[in-house]
Amino acid sequence: MNIDSIRADFPILSRKVNGKDLIYLDNAASTQTPRAVVDDIEYIYYNRKANVHRGVHCLSQEATAAMEEARERVRRFIGADSVEEIIFTRGTTESINLVASSYGLLLNEGDEIILTVMEHHSNIVPWQLLASRRGIVIKVVPCDERGVLDLDAYRALFSPRTRLVSVTQVSNVLGTVNPVAEMAAIAHSHGALVCIDGAQAVAHTKVDVKALGADFYVFSSHKMYGPTGVGILYGRRDLLETMPPYQGGGEMIGHVSFSGTTWAELPFKFEAGTPDYVGAAALAKAIDYLEGLGIENVADHEHELLEYATSLMETIPGLRIYGTAPHKSAVISFLIGDAHHYDTGILLDQLGIAVRTGHHCAQPLMERFGIEGTVRASFAAYNTRVEVDAFIAALRRVAAMLV
Ligand SMILES: *Cc1c(COP(=O)(O)O)cnc(C)c1O
Repeated sequence: MNIDSIRADFPILSRKVNGKDLIYLDNAASTQTPRAVVDDIEYIYYNRKANVHRGVHCLSQEATAAMEEARERVRRFIGADSVEEIIFTRGTTESINLVASSYGLLLNEGDEIILTVMEHHSNIVPWQLLASRRGIVIKVVPCDERGVLDLDAYRALFSPRTRLVSVTQVSNVLGTVNPVAEMAAIAHSHGALVCIDGAQAVAHTKVDVKALGADFYVFSSHKMYGPTGVGILYGRRDLLETMPPYQGGGEMIGHVSFSGTTWAELPFKFEAGTPDYVGAAALAKAIDYLEGLGIENVADHEHELLEYATSLMETIPGLRIYGTAPHKSAVISFLIGDAHHYDTGILLDQLGIAVRTGHHCAQPLMERFGIEGTVRASFAAYNTRVEVDAFIAALRRVAAMLV
């Protein structure tokens, strides 16, 4: 991979922040967007903007074709069997809410679902809402000090009432890569379904939903070089067919009458209202971009930066890294001495370095480690060793000031 030419695809990377060169290490929250994707959005707005699926006119037909090509592009990207299994949503959060609300209606009081201690709030709260509405029971898989899930504890959580496991493939805080295929196989042996949160995975590892054994797989465009406001729910077709609609409105109906309304076929049954057809088409461009780089190449590059940064951070007195699982993803959560994560983040920002601070929408995980929050640096295809060197130099300055 030629990092200089990749960086040239991202105009934002050449801006200054507080008079310093921007060093963007907040990729686990949102990646930046390459010119090819932004250009596509501009092109659509200037040349082809029209609502999809309803129009006889040329622009609408072009828009519809682009949206359905995007669906096919996503299908290929994650190895799904058919486009009927690809639902466009607003993002990971909405995808999980869709599953919890719709599949949740098929659950009965006393049924159980299994989550893990390292889930993002968006993979906790929709299930809690369901629990309060339907009387289902939530069980939680613990992790060890390194941030590795306890698979024995996981196995022990199953009962004849277990209906679903919902687990993140990669922790957005610890970088842990969970053995989701193995966890899915265990769940299936107990007759339970598996929903995999792929928000931190799809831009960093090749995903094949069938090889993983995912019954549902969810992710967001904005964390994989795509536009904001669009995401994906993959669901196995036979499951989606049995599930009731999530939202009602236009697009999702067969026929509407006050004496009874019928639903559209998949995937439209789950896409009420005008979809983000511009975002969907641009997501396809982002997939082209990512696969053009080669996900394996991106992963290797990020891994090298992770190892390099980690080895240097370990030499900084008072710096503690949270999340030391083997083969982790390129996310580094840390604290320096007693310094507040927020103060560290502010000082880094003054040096032009963008990191995330806080609980990272994973408060139960913070509780597990007995902390309020961390500072988190996370890498993408366009980050460099030179940036890591600057980050480390900045951390040394911060440590000298705060510790
Ligand atoms: C970001 C993230 C989410 C939520 O994604 P949204 O795009 O905010 O809906 C869920 N799970 C994980 C692991 C994440 O990193």
